[in-house]
Amino acid sequence: MSDDFTPENPAPDGEYDAWLDAVDAGDGYHLVCDEGHGWLPPRRVCPRCGGDLREEPLPDSGAVATFTVVHVPTPSFAAEAPYATVVADFGGVRLTGVARQFEDLAVGDSVAPAVGEREDGERLLLLERA
Ligand SMILES: [Zn+2]
Repeated sequence: MSDDFTPENPAPDGEYDAWLDAVDAGDGYHLVCDEGHGWLPPRRVCPRCGGDLREEPLPDSGAVATFTVVHVPTPSFAAEAPYATVVADFGGVRLTGVARQFEDLAVGDSVAPAVGEREDGERLLLLERA
């Protein structure tokens, strides 16, 4: 992958797409420094300590930290409603994703990352109960 990002190919989108590809392939990862601070791409150095970052596998499942059921979403998510926006702890990182099955969902539940598609074809991170 090139480090030469341009306005037509900005780092956040490109790297997020690459990260979604990895999650979709079951090879999800996060970035960790020597101090154990965890981040999602795109990052070059640890924002907390300035240390170098290396890729570590994402745990297969995470624990729900909080979630919100959305009945009236923004227009781009209208076809998804109702759904839950889930924030889950995966080792050193927190992921935010969508749960389409959220009945009886509770804080602490185990969820697994996957990649889904919205009605308009845009991909989204799913965090469904594991
Ligand atoms: Zn750090």
